[in-house]
Amino acid sequence: MEKRVYMFDEGEQVEGEKKMILGGKGANLAEMTRMGLPVPFGFIITTTQCKEYLNKKAILDDLWQDVLSALQKLEHKAGKKFGDSKNPLLVSVRSGAPASMPGMMDTILNLGLNDQTVSSLASLTNNERFACDSYRRLMHMYGDVVMGVPHEVFEKTIEGMREREKVKFDSQISVNGLKELVSKYKEIYKKHVGKDFPQDPKEQLKYAVEAVFKSWNTPRAVSYRRINKIPETWGTAVNVQMMVFGNMGEDSGTGVGFTRDPATGENVLYGEFLMNAQGEDVVAGIRTPKHMEEMKKESPQMYEQISKISKTLETHLKDMQDFEFTIEKENLFMLQTRNGKRTAQAAVRIAVEMAKEKLITKKDAVLRVQPSQLDQLLHKQFSSESKKKLGAVAKGLAASPGAAVGKVYFTAEEAVEAAKGGEAVVLVRTETSPEDIEGMNVAKGILTARGGKTSHAAVVARGMGKSCVAGCDDIIVEEEKKIFRIPKKNIEVKEGEWISIDGATGEVFIGKAELVEPSVGGDFKKLLSWADKYRKLKVKANADTPKDSKVARDFGAEGIGLTRTEHMFFEESRIKSFRKMIIADTLEERKKALSEVEPYQQEDFEGIFEVMNGLPVIIRLLDPPLHEFLPHEKEQMEILAKEIGIPVKKIEDTVKSLHELNPMLGFRGCRLAVKYPEIGEMQARAILKAALNCKEKGLDPKPWIEIPIVGHVREYVLVRDLIEKVSEELGAKGKIDYKIGTMIEVPRAAVTADELAKEAEFMSFGTNDLTQMGSGFSRDDAGKFLPIYVEKGIYGEDPFSSIDQDGIGLLMRICVYKARKVKKEIEIGICGEHGGDPASVEFCHRIGMNDVSCSPYRVPIARLAAAQAALKYKHGELLKGFRL
Ligand code: PEP
Ligand code: MG
Repeated sequence: MEKRVYMFDEGEQVEGEKKMILGGKGANLAEMTRMGLPVPFGFIITTTQCKEYLNKKAILDDLWQDVLSALQKLEHKAGKKFGDSKNPLLVSVRSGAPASMPGMMDTILNLGLNDQTVSSLASLTNNERFACDSYRRLMHMYGDVVMGVPHEVFEKTIEGMREREKVKFDSQISVNGLKELVSKYKEIYKKHVGKDFPQDPKEQLKYAVEAVFKSWNTPRAVSYRRINKIPETWGTAVNVQMMVFGNMGEDSGTGVGFTRDPATGENVLYGEFLMNAQGEDVVAGIRTPKHMEEMKKESPQMYEQISKISKTLETHLKDMQDFEFTIEKENLFMLQTRNGKRTAQAAVRIAVEMAKEKLITKKDAVLRVQPSQLDQLLHKQFSSESKKKLGAVAKGLAASPGAAVGKVYFTAEEAVEAAKGGEAVVLVRTETSPEDIEGMNVAKGILTARGGKTSHAAVVARGMGKSCVAGCDDIIVEEEKKIFRIPKKNIEVKEGEWISIDGATGEVFIGKAELVEPSVGGDFKKLLSWADKYRKLKVKANADTPKDSKVARDFGAEGIGLTRTEHMFFEESRIKSFRKMIIADTLEERKKALSEVEPYQQEDFEGIFEVMNGLPVIIRLLDPPLHEFLPHEKEQMEILAKEIGIPVKKIEDTVKSLHELNPMLGFRGCRLAVKYPEIGEMQARAILKAALNCKEKGLDPKPWIEIPIVGHVREYVLVRDLIEKVSEELGAKGKIDYKIGTMIEVPRAAVTADELAKEAEFMSFGTNDLTQMGSGFSRDDAGKFLPIYVEKGIYGEDPFSSIDQDGIGLLMRICVYKARKVKKEIEIGICGEHGGDPASVEFCHRIGMNDVSCSPYRVPIARLAAAQAALKYKHGELLKGFRL
């Protein structure tokens, strides 16, 4: 028969994974007991019993009999009896799921107190105040958690008492006040529940256990599980543990310890404690806790004991621990231990040092650090104190991490002017467009009211490694008035006023928050060098300039996975030529504009080849969503008209005729070269000439020319052939080690990948467009409703941030499967925004791809994520047995 209840010293009897059966907290309490550490004794009701209860809606007799016999064993160990009038045992009842769900479920303390035992507690502890306070806390917690008496009713009553006694904190209420509260709480309880507060401790215990079971299904617990992907089927264990008290005098106390410093990772005992206090006093902040260092001076023996336990815990549990302890009359008790939360810096240092200490292996170290956490190390951040002090006034999408402080400017030109004058600038726009690039370039950060995570502002900011909060619905930007408003808060911010934005959280603050520098120390490098040994995926970067390419290479990129050639025209001086090319309506005009554009392209390519010497550089032919490049304002049309020497009217008409209802599905990508081969030819010339020049300088350029928005193999072949023609003309064939390949962005391309693979030398998933076209979500507009889809659980995550593995991911699997069938060795990569998302990187590994490409600042994240994927899964395992 399955065991329903385990005493803390019976952990070894568990068959199967302890955490799954005893819950995280229970398993660790059992482990600490086994290790001989001083843990107040107790027992654990298994997670299976929670599931049974939730199915049958009752605690069955069998379980209850087992609980009573466990209670007897506990009484025996404690030398106290539950409900005894002389020496009463008090217990706590706490939840403990297999995965940590902090604060999501219920806890009840001080069970076993009643009108009689409260007096014994008072005389035993010689502290009437403490006894009465414990009793009223029990009634409050029990009434609220077990019987659903509104929490506020108790709160209001105690508030009234504080007012009457003219004190600020509960702990200052007099003994008589507390006694009166006990009577009042009894009345409240009776009024709401319809019967008296139970005087039978066993009844208290039974209902408390039941309440903890039920708390598995509170709405907040359900949401927490959904967000953190914790299965519904797990259930919670229940820990029943003898109470110990840290507020029994100056020889008692309570505290929290970390086996290493959770902020820096330094290998020192770190923690805080308070004498003559309970855990809540530390939390309530009434008294300032002391640092462990002081314990070393005041009570060296106790410090020694805690230090020793701290070391023992780490040696056994092999990770940094966060533990709680209580000292009751000079006796130390361990109440809990768990893997401690830590900053990214600490996570890296701890992982590396533990591996060096041989406490864990290098593989363990690589698996220890969350790749997404590394973001914190790569960008400046706000200090938590200053964030608290200023308080966020608005929240948008965390579009590009990093913290920025600057004065608000609303146009690119004003931003540039202000920056020239030495000012720190935050560019605030309703949304950005390529015209804003200069402004974005000089700004410390970018805040937009509209746009999603793949909006122009977000993509460009990430590429630049700049902080960006996008799609901030809370703000209304009135560029003409040079203000933005936050209607919810009734705040108006004018040009030149200071704001601070946090691109890692999406928060916006008014004023100057304090910045702290990122620290990329030696441990960080070491960890990544270990990671590189395990990974199967190459990591490349998306970069459009030599400068970005340099950053990428310094971060360990093994080539460029995407150069968006249209981005090379964001600069003010270049965008005009580009516009001329779009607007030209004769071949001659277009060729003229193209001849202006070609040298810029060649120059940039040469720069990139130099930085990436010897490594592949994927250069994508033009893919301009036309609406991003056309002039919209009259003033710009006039400038352009003057330059080209044609009437403004003509420009207006051309812009009108080029206007598309759905530009993202419009005249983009290879469609441009299909209609105007001279555009594709110009680019092929610029790429190959740049490569030939580099070759002459003794370098080893490796251009991979990529054709975007391909849906049909015949489109691909047409454009490929014109590139090959240029190559013949330039004599590049045989001289330059180049390849030609295709983007996979159109679902049709994914499902006909076998046909494409016959012709293409490499493939790269453009998952931004593949998600857009495969799910029917507009990249520019879906931000308005996608958060609701995530909130309602339709999608686990924003499919533009993390690959929708069942849908878009299936298209990718089909593509890899079909392509490899005809060309086993074809190189397949990804260059959509997903290339830097750890879960997506893992998926790419599992479907057997060759490389991922992401913004330069995400390269370390992708390197670590790829290594973790390789340590967890076989490369290409999801293609095993896959059939169509
Ligand atoms: C993509 O579609 O995923 C891609 C990388 O191309 P772009 O974002 O430039 O459309
Ligand atoms: Mg695309």
